[in-house]
Amino acid sequence: MVHGPEATQIRMMDYPGTGPARDVWKVTNDDTPALETGQVLVRIDWVSVDPGMSGWITNKRSYMPPVMPGGVMRAFGVGEVIESRANSLKQGEWVTGFLGLQSKAVFTADNPAPFEELRKIPVDFAPPNLFLSGLGMTGYTAYFGMMDIGRPKPGETVVVSAASGAVGSVAAQLAKNSGARVIGVAGGQEKCGYLIDELGLDGAIDYKAGDIRGQLKSLTPDRVDVYFDNVGGDILDELFLRMKYRGRIVVCGGISQYNSQSRGQGQIKGPSNYLTMVAQSLTMRGFTMKDYMDRVPEALPLLAKAWSEGQLKFREHVVEGIEKFPDTFEMLFDGRNHGKLLIKVQHAS
Ligand code: NAP
Repeated sequence: MVHGPEATQIRMMDYPGTGPARDVWKVTNDDTPALETGQVLVRIDWVSVDPGMSGWITNKRSYMPPVMPGGVMRAFGVGEVIESRANSLKQGEWVTGFLGLQSKAVFTADNPAPFEELRKIPVDFAPPNLFLSGLGMTGYTAYFGMMDIGRPKPGETVVVSAASGAVGSVAAQLAKNSGARVIGVAGGQEKCGYLIDELGLDGAIDYKAGDIRGQLKSLTPDRVDVYFDNVGGDILDELFLRMKYRGRIVVCGGISQYNSQSRGQGQIKGPSNYLTMVAQSLTMRGFTMKDYMDRVPEALPLLAKAWSEGQLKFREHVVEGIEKFPDTFEMLFDGRNHGKLLIKVQHAS
């Protein structure tokens, strides 16, 4: 049998269960198979590390099928086509999609299976890594969540949690660019300083400093029209009490609950103040990017224009080497990442 070049993969050997996720990963160095008609060989240069991965490594019902034990861990990536036997992609073109936690891999480019679609990216316009952060799924999530569901209007008050992170920072800037007054929630002084000094937000709440209720009250004298929730738990519960009549809550994620939900670590904390929804006629809507994939062509030019004109800033936190994935993934849950968490894949040659 003919083999392609050797590659490195990170495989999930079992579902983590209630134990630490770091125990289930294995590094392998398997050759890529020979190319068949309709396939391409991709060198993967950047991989995205996402909180949503916690939902992909559980066999509970989710918005996409779980990673199978022994399989390469699912991840968004960007890379260059280095060999092609496909009509739809040429050697030298750059692509993004679920490329997986691996250094090289073969993909079916002509008539791909679901979740294997590769989309071309214009790396002459922006560096490839940006198509995983502000000009990729991160940016699209922020855009549709904020602009399609939150719909901030000039003069309204918007609160965003995990606001210094990947999605939150873009969502907060989009609300600010729409003329809203924007308050970010983040953990610690460095992140809160970044929200005000770099992103120009109108206020920052350091939830790790305590008294979230008091901080929220003093920074939102007119209450809150839109809450863009990335964290759930206690912060969401406090926001319920602060929403204005007919306010909108966008449920983008709930990272404070993921280890409970996916891995059964402790009890999920549901909001105890949710009856404010009745008294204040609130709307609360969740979404995933799966709902919006057909509208990516609408978001990308708008994000790209705003970025190129300096109206949007993207911060990235880069870790080198896919073998560092097990610890890198944990960074999301203890807040060690400062911006979109990416792994730069190292290649031997
Ligand atoms: P990120 O914000 O760059 O990183 C996660 C951040 O969450 C951490 O840096 C930390 O920041 C904060 N955090 C972690 N545990 C927390 C806790 N217990 N309480 C409060 N904050 C906590 O990650 P991201 O990729 O942008 O994802 C943010 C959210 O968006 C996640 O919930 C994710 O699942 C969601 N998301 C949804 C979609 C979708 O399609 N709906 C797509 C992408 C992402 P601090 O230091 O400030 O605590």
